[in-house]
Amino acid sequence: MMKESVHASSKGVSTIGPTDPAYQQCIMPDCAATFSVDETYAACPKCGHLLDVLYDWDRLNVPRSLSAIEERWARRDDPRCFSGVWRFHDLLPFAPADKIITIGEGQTLLHPSNAVGRYVGMKPDHLFLQYEGMNPSGSFKDNGMSAAFTHGKMIGATRAACASTGNTSASLSLYCSVTELMKAVIFVGSGKIAVGKLSQALDYGALTLQIAGDFDDAMARVQDISRELGIYLVNSVNPFRLEGQKTIMFRVLEALRWQVPDWIVVPGGNLGNSSSFGKAFFELKQLGLIDRMPRLAVINATGAKTLYELYENQGLRWNDGHPDLATVDAYSQKMNAEGLRASTIASAIEINRPVNLLKCIRALEWMDGVVRHLSDQAILDAKAQVGAGGMGCEPASAASVAGAKLLVAEGVISPDERVVCILTGHQLKDPGATVAYHSTDQKHFEKVLGSRGVRRAAFANRAVAVSNDVDEIIKAIRLYS
Ligand SMILES: *Cc1c(COP(=O)(O)O)cnc(C)c1O
Ligand SMILES: [Zn+2]
Repeated sequence: MMKESVHASSKGVSTIGPTDPAYQQCIMPDCAATFSVDETYAACPKCGHLLDVLYDWDRLNVPRSLSAIEERWARRDDPRCFSGVWRFHDLLPFAPADKIITIGEGQTLLHPSNAVGRYVGMKPDHLFLQYEGMNPSGSFKDNGMSAAFTHGKMIGATRAACASTGNTSASLSLYCSVTELMKAVIFVGSGKIAVGKLSQALDYGALTLQIAGDFDDAMARVQDISRELGIYLVNSVNPFRLEGQKTIMFRVLEALRWQVPDWIVVPGGNLGNSSSFGKAFFELKQLGLIDRMPRLAVINATGAKTLYELYENQGLRWNDGHPDLATVDAYSQKMNAEGLRASTIASAIEINRPVNLLKCIRALEWMDGVVRHLSDQAILDAKAQVGAGGMGCEPASAASVAGAKLLVAEGVISPDERVVCILTGHQLKDPGATVAYHSTDQKHFEKVLGSRGVRRAAFANRAVAVSNDVDEIIKAIRLYS
């Protein structure tokens, strides 16, 4: 339906036809350039800022109520109904149904956890963990990847690339190997990728380039190279990817019987997730499908807190589309001058130059948001609590729980509000951090975590060494259980 309405101009560049209900638009209102969904850009060709995928909802088949979507559960033999992303196709309608790519992503749970809730300081039944580690590649990235692949199929892409701290590359590599639609080229910083994530990219057969630099360097290079070689870029600068990630919030609402929670708490790295959550709720409100917005808390690691510095300390605001870009530039210059590099055990958020910064501060404006940062110590302690009472996660994910705890202690979150923390990635992504935290070997603990400023493992569950002897083993069980 969208295809026919796109007109190819003499230069071979398509422009938006009068009947296109889905289109791309620059996020900056003073530019507001629009482009067809059949084009692909990593940035607005007119001004260099980010693009959104937008919809003319009046001409689309929008559900009358969110609960109407539940009817699709009855058709779970249809992969597009089974998918936790494409069940919500009506709310990300940029692709015709026959282009949709799904590998069964989004079968995730909103898990109420009183154990983690007690740690955070919440009343019983008020803390929920949205467990995105249950996705096919083990992180929330699959929500976005299925949408990016769908767009890639629409435009006929044959190669896809990303820079990654690990999970985007795991997801891209998986979608490439399963669908055989594109070949994967991944850029990782050297020595910066958790072993579980690297093992996935290698196993799925992706061309893996280890750049001599960190994530921020890899991100800069992949943008240069994908432009140069015309490779489809699946980092979160890709606005189609963020459309897929909106569905994480739709599933949260679905699990809460379509009631809006009070808080969404999410770790912030490249800030794609927080940006897409803001867009999800903004659009639902616009469509009259919800009556109020939850508040948003984005949690940085102390060793990678650009968003915190700009938003909380320097007062950077979206300001209705007129953010003070000089503040952003000055901070970037300062990082250059000081040679500041991101450093945290939470490798998925070890990012100092988040590409979605402006979309994120827009989301923070829409959702009356706050930003906090937590030390690696606080993140790993929270991670141990999640492991003990809430399905387990990788270090970056636990930033959401550590952040919620801080916000309760500050009185910003009240114990009787309903709080949803996003567990972005699976526990087995980074077993090294977990084993070191629980280690009985102080030297190993020091080696892996000491340089991160982690001094103690308050919630360590240490293995008990016992001799190969029945009486000794029984004694140990009696002593420790
Ligand atoms: C990618 C990722 C993040 C960061 O998400 P952004 O959208 O880049 O802010 C956090 N946690 C995990 C596990 C991730 O894979
Ligand atoms: Zn623009």
